[in-house]
Amino acid sequence: MKLCMIGTGYVGLVSGVCFADLGNDVVCIDCDINKINDLKKGIIPIYEPGLEELVIKNYKNGRLKFSTNLEDSVLKSDIIFICVGTPTKKNSRAADLRQVYTVIREIRKCIRKFKIIVTKSTVPVTTGDEIEKIISIKKSKKLFSVVSNPEFLREGEAIRDFIYPDRVIIGTQDKKSNKILKNLYSPLISKGAKYINTSRRAAELIKYASNAFLATKITFINEIANLCENIDVNVEDITIGMGLDKRIGSRFLRAGPAYGGSCFPKDTKAITTTADKFKTNLSIIKSVIKSNENRSSLLLKRTIKLLNGKIKNKKICFLGVTFKANTDDMRDSSSLKMIPFLIKKGAIINYYDPTGSKSELSKYKKVFYSKDIKSAISESDLIIIHTEWNDFKSINFKSYLKNKKCIIFDMRNIYSRSKMKQLNLNYYGVGG
Ligand code: NAD
Repeated sequence: MKLCMIGTGYVGLVSGVCFADLGNDVVCIDCDINKINDLKKGIIPIYEPGLEELVIKNYKNGRLKFSTNLEDSVLKSDIIFICVGTPTKKNSRAADLRQVYTVIREIRKCIRKFKIIVTKSTVPVTTGDEIEKIISIKKSKKLFSVVSNPEFLREGEAIRDFIYPDRVIIGTQDKKSNKILKNLYSPLISKGAKYINTSRRAAELIKYASNAFLATKITFINEIANLCENIDVNVEDITIGMGLDKRIGSRFLRAGPAYGGSCFPKDTKAITTTADKFKTNLSIIKSVIKSNENRSSLLLKRTIKLLNGKIKNKKICFLGVTFKANTDDMRDSSSLKMIPFLIKKGAIINYYDPTGSKSELSKYKKVFYSKDIKSAISESDLIIIHTEWNDFKSINFKSYLKNKKCIIFDMRNIYSRSKMKQLNLNYYGVGG
C-alpha cells in the first residue's frame, strides 16, 4: 500500500519505517526541513534502539522516503496517517490541536480521489468528528474517510511494540476503510496482535483511558511507597506481593520519580478537560495529576533531609536525566523540576546520560555534563539515580567514589539495599 506519515517524530518515524519494512511504500513528511535532510543522510533525530538500521535499510531499498512536500505525497498515497504533536495548550489543560488542524487543511486541498485519513496522534474524543466536518466543507464525503488508530508504542521499545502490539484499534464504522486497514495490519495480526474495530469515538477514548490508567498505577504505588517510608517497609516487597496477582500485574507498579514524558502528563490533563466539557468529573485522574505534580517536591524534601538540610556547594550527580531509560526524550522529565530547584539552593550538578548532554540543561551555569559514569560520580556528595538504564545497574561505587561518605539516592530501586549495606555504602532507595 502507499502510505504517507505526516509528522516524522517518535510515532511517525517509527510507524513509517515499520510499515515500510512490512513491504509498503511509505513517505514520511515533516515541516522541519533539517530533520528531513538529516534523515535522507541516515542521521536519525531521536534515540531509539534498532531504529537507525531499519531506517537505513528501508531508505536504501526505496520503500521509505522522506519529504517536506505534503501535497505531492498525499496525492500519491492511499492512506494518510496524522502523527503530529498534540501538546498541552498554554495556560490550559486541554490538548492543543493546532498542528492536527493545520495538517488537515493542507490535506483537504489534495483530495481528488478516495483517501483514508487516520489519526495516530493522540486526540480527544470527537476530534475525528471535527476533522470530518472541516474536510467536508470543501470535499464530498464520498472522497474520504476519517479513522482513529491510536498508537500504543513506548519510547525505548518502540519498534518491538509496533511490530508486536497487544492490540490494533481501528475506530471506524466505514466497512471499506476497516477492510483496507485490517489488510494493512494483517502481518501484525498474524503474529498475534488482536484487531479491534470500534466506533471512532471509542478508539479515541481507549488511548486516553489506557494512558490515564497506567499513570494511575504508577501514582498509586508511589503513594504506597510514601506510606512504606513511614512504617519501615520496603515497597519492593509490596510490588512483588501485589504484582503476582494476575488481576493486578507487576508492570507499571514500580515506585520512583514522578511520571513524565511526552504522553502521560499531557494525556491525563486532556482527558479530564474533555470529560469536564461533557459534564463528567474524572475525580480519580484529577487526583492522580495532583499527586504526580507533588511527587518531585516530596523527593526533593527527602534529598534535602539526606543532606541534613545543607545543599549549598554540595556536589550532586544525576545518573540519567531523561524521563525514563532507553530514550533521549526530556519532555516533562522530573529532572527538569529537581535540577533547577537544587541549583537555586546552591548545589553544583554533574550529570551523565547515555544519550548525551541536554540542551534543556545547558542554560544553567552550575550544571555540568560528564562524559562517563566514573567522572560524573567520583567527586559527588550525593548521587541521584534518576533513570533505570542498564548502564547504571552494576556500578563499582567502591572504586569510583573519592568521597567515601557520598550518599546514593536510588530513585528507581535498582540496587539491593542489603547488598549495598554489606558494602558499607551510604545507600537509600524510595519507599522504605
Ligand atoms: P514529536 O513531537 O516527536 O513529532 C511530531 C512531528 O510533527 C515533529 O517532527 C514536527 O516537526 C511535525 N509537525 C508538526 N507540524 C507539522 C506540519 N504542519 N506538517 C508536517 N509535520 C509537522 O511527537 P510524537 O512523540 O511522535 O507524538 C506524536 C503524537 O503521537 C502525539 O499526539 C502523541 O501524544 C502521540 N503518541 C506519542 C507516543 C510517544 O511515545 N512519543 C506514543 C503514542 C502516541
